[in-house]
Amino acid sequence: MKIEKSRALFSEAQKYIPGGVNSPVRAFKAVGGDPLFIKSSKGAYMFDEDDNKYIDLINSWGPMILGHGHEGIAQAVREAVDHSLSFGAPTRKEVEIAELITHMMPSVEKVRMVNSGTEATMSALRLARGFTGRDKIIKFEGCYHGHGDSFLIAAGSGAATMGIPNSPGVTKGTAQDTLTAPFNNLKAVQDLVDRNNGNIAAIILEPVAGNMGCVLPQEGYLLGLRDICDKNGIVLIFDEVMTGFRLSKGGAQELFGVRPDLTTLGKIIGGGMPVGAYGGKAEIMDFVSPAGPVYQAGTLSGNPVAMSAGLAMLTYLNEHSEIYKSLQDTTSRIAAGYRLSLDKLDLKYTINHIGSMISMFFTDQPVFDFDSAKTSNTELFGRYFRGMLERGVYLPPSQFETYFISTAIDNSIADEIIRANHEVLEELTVG
Ligand code: PMP
Repeated sequence: MKIEKSRALFSEAQKYIPGGVNSPVRAFKAVGGDPLFIKSSKGAYMFDEDDNKYIDLINSWGPMILGHGHEGIAQAVREAVDHSLSFGAPTRKEVEIAELITHMMPSVEKVRMVNSGTEATMSALRLARGFTGRDKIIKFEGCYHGHGDSFLIAAGSGAATMGIPNSPGVTKGTAQDTLTAPFNNLKAVQDLVDRNNGNIAAIILEPVAGNMGCVLPQEGYLLGLRDICDKNGIVLIFDEVMTGFRLSKGGAQELFGVRPDLTTLGKIIGGGMPVGAYGGKAEIMDFVSPAGPVYQAGTLSGNPVAMSAGLAMLTYLNEHSEIYKSLQDTTSRIAAGYRLSLDKLDLKYTINHIGSMISMFFTDQPVFDFDSAKTSNTELFGRYFRGMLERGVYLPPSQFETYFISTAIDNSIADEIIRANHEVLEELTVG
């Protein structure tokens, strides 16, 4: 595989951009090799500067659930651009998208648009603190909620990949207010709540974790958290930046039938444009300025071009909920193909999947929290990643991320992925 142009760009990039990238995991540091500079994408594929073609299993880290270049979204953006790039005043599209979100996700009675998932979680946290008058929060080891200070404690995703789950630059005071518990362990949460009686504003989690690889909530876990929050006046926040509009039209909360107090959204909600949102019970959301005292604002919040892309995406998903079944079928097909290869090669790796999220961990242990995810052999993952890339399959460049399956991946592309996986595993086993 020739990647001269990507190499040259990366070396140039490192002169002007820290580490040569605008988001750490993109640098391929955890998996070795040079990052690819992408020129274009279409459907299930991405093309790099050297004109190599890849099946894309990142899909912009989630937003491109319909694959790349969906015509309806592109057209909505073109029309919006003809009107203006930005006004900084209210628009019709903001009302339409807010209404649609509340329809698709009924726990969201009112919603505020922001520009990223990070902004959504930071704002939701401030709101939960303002609403309850309490300072502390509980988050889960290996969950990632963006790079707000409060969340860079035992964080997953890139922070875990880079080996810095507790980032320098976060003050002691902030760190003290963030309590952490292992995922899928209700007793640990109950203990924290008991020890910090009346001081916990919020419990925030990814209802299905994607940022330590794909990790599912065990039976009764989400309901158990709901119960603890109800009994202790704690705001339950589902961070559905990744799972919202992905696991079902109404996100993980619809799939598992658990209603959070607040929900944070991002990725798919912008159709590929920089959008986030937070919403939930009207009683809590009415604490947000100018309805209430908790301040939060944004020069480009509700940007008309971004709203048009998001509205086109959500409208499509709302009208085509059959895609969720087919996404799940594609993912199950890949999982079954992988399992067959593991059996044939007598390997005992762990595969977790749900809806259109899937991870293979290089460990023979079940993976249900961050500690068990960390039993995975990340060096082996790095070699696996490079083998897949050479065969034209672009995986997330970290063990601690999930694949994002898009509707552009049909059965024949899924079979190509399965074949590549078999070849690489075989090569690694022999090598
Ligand atoms: N929450 C979750 C669950 C995420 O997966 C992410 C990003 N991967 C974020 C928050 C942060 O979103 P953003 O990168 O848009 O700031």
